[in-house]
Amino acid sequence: MGSNFSYWEQTSFFNYDVIVIGSGIVGLTAAIHLKKTSPYLNIAILEKGFLPSGASSKNAGFACFGSVSELIEQEKTAGSESLHRIIEKRWKGLSKLRFLLSDKAIDYKCLGGYELFKRGEDQLANYCVSKIEHLNDLIKDVVGKDAFALSNHKIKSFGFGGITNIISNQFEAQIDTGKMMLGLIKLAQSIGIMIFNNCTVSDVNEIGGQNLITTEYGNFSSKKLIIATNAFIKTLLPDVAIVPGRGQVLVTKPISGLKIEGTFHYDKGYYYFRNIDNRILLGGGRNIDFKAEETTTFGQTKVVQHELESLLRTIILPDHQVEIDLRWSGIMAFGKELNPLVIEARKNVFCATRCNGMGVAIGSQTGEDVAELVIKSGL
Ligand SMILES: Cc1cc2nc3c(=O)[nH]c(=O)nc-3n(C[C@H](O)[C@H](O)[C@H](O)COP(=O)(O)OP(=O)(O)OC[C@H]3O[C@@H](n4cnc5c(N)ncnc54)[C@H](O)[C@@H]3O)c2cc1C
Repeated sequence: MGSNFSYWEQTSFFNYDVIVIGSGIVGLTAAIHLKKTSPYLNIAILEKGFLPSGASSKNAGFACFGSVSELIEQEKTAGSESLHRIIEKRWKGLSKLRFLLSDKAIDYKCLGGYELFKRGEDQLANYCVSKIEHLNDLIKDVVGKDAFALSNHKIKSFGFGGITNIISNQFEAQIDTGKMMLGLIKLAQSIGIMIFNNCTVSDVNEIGGQNLITTEYGNFSSKKLIIATNAFIKTLLPDVAIVPGRGQVLVTKPISGLKIEGTFHYDKGYYYFRNIDNRILLGGGRNIDFKAEETTTFGQTKVVQHELESLLRTIILPDHQVEIDLRWSGIMAFGKELNPLVIEARKNVFCATRCNGMGVAIGSQTGEDVAELVIKSGL
């Protein structure tokens, strides 16, 4: 224990019923669900960053459940039933997030989503178009109506260069990621959850039926522990099957006469862009150098940034002079399975990770799932 903590500090601040490590979407919604279900619980979140520092405050704010080409790939590997199940979870996750914070609070705007196919990709485009009816049928019971449609009439109005086919999804929306995270943090605090920032957990052990959680400020203890550190989970649970993936993002300066509105997927979802405050936010490009981007280190690379800028100037905004205002990166957790990993890793230690780059959609559901697992284990 840190040398100058008073008796009062030691007895009041370091022991909890449940400790959550990580204040991303998953950690925050897990803590909120637990506290709302059992208000008597004493809950704390330990977060290594000054702000949440993984993916949740760095993402693109797509409220989406997958583009046609992505869903086709996922169906090939997981089968139709699993795909249906995961889309349902993504949809439910989004609904829970909207209900928890309100559409106004997160700036939820259902402007539609679009998958773009460039000249020379006719074979892929035709294949995706041929699957529209099948996918619409597969998920109609989840979303209520046909989601996908061929929307080539939109190409001209967006002003894209070299795009020959567009498939739209009328249910895709965008949110303000910053407002979402601020909303989750404020909600957690308002219901009595303690959040400690700049508090990196270096080790977790079990002593006398309690979890002992080591930080540079001393040891915390709890009956139950949820590890929601996503791509960084291996530092605490080395055997968890996830692979990190860095996502690089840029935002332009404001563009006058910007015609682009909505969320856009390009190159099988490896690139994504959207409008925000008369600017374009563009990210992706992991596929250029998978090995280099399989990292938990934040940063940008010349090769990915060059590709993003080239896409911006030739395809997205061929008729505009654009300047880049800001660049950043975030780290995701991927795995072979579509489902997030939600398990009791060892007695009284739970983990929830691997939202596979779609945590805005499925993160709230994942947080709730791990909280339910904790509740079932007995508190
Ligand atoms: C660039 C980018 C764009 C994305 N775009 C979208 C999108 O448009 N739509 C979508 O649905 N999804 C998107 N995602 C994915 C989505 O953001 C993630 O799936 C989701 O945020 C994961 O949430 P999480 O809570 O599991 O993890 P995280 O948000 O990564 O949270 C984990 C937290 O744990 C903390 N932590 C780590 N180690 C420790 C430790 N030892 N001690 C204490 N704290 C620790 C980290 O600082 C972090 O705050 C994107 C991701 C990125 C990076």
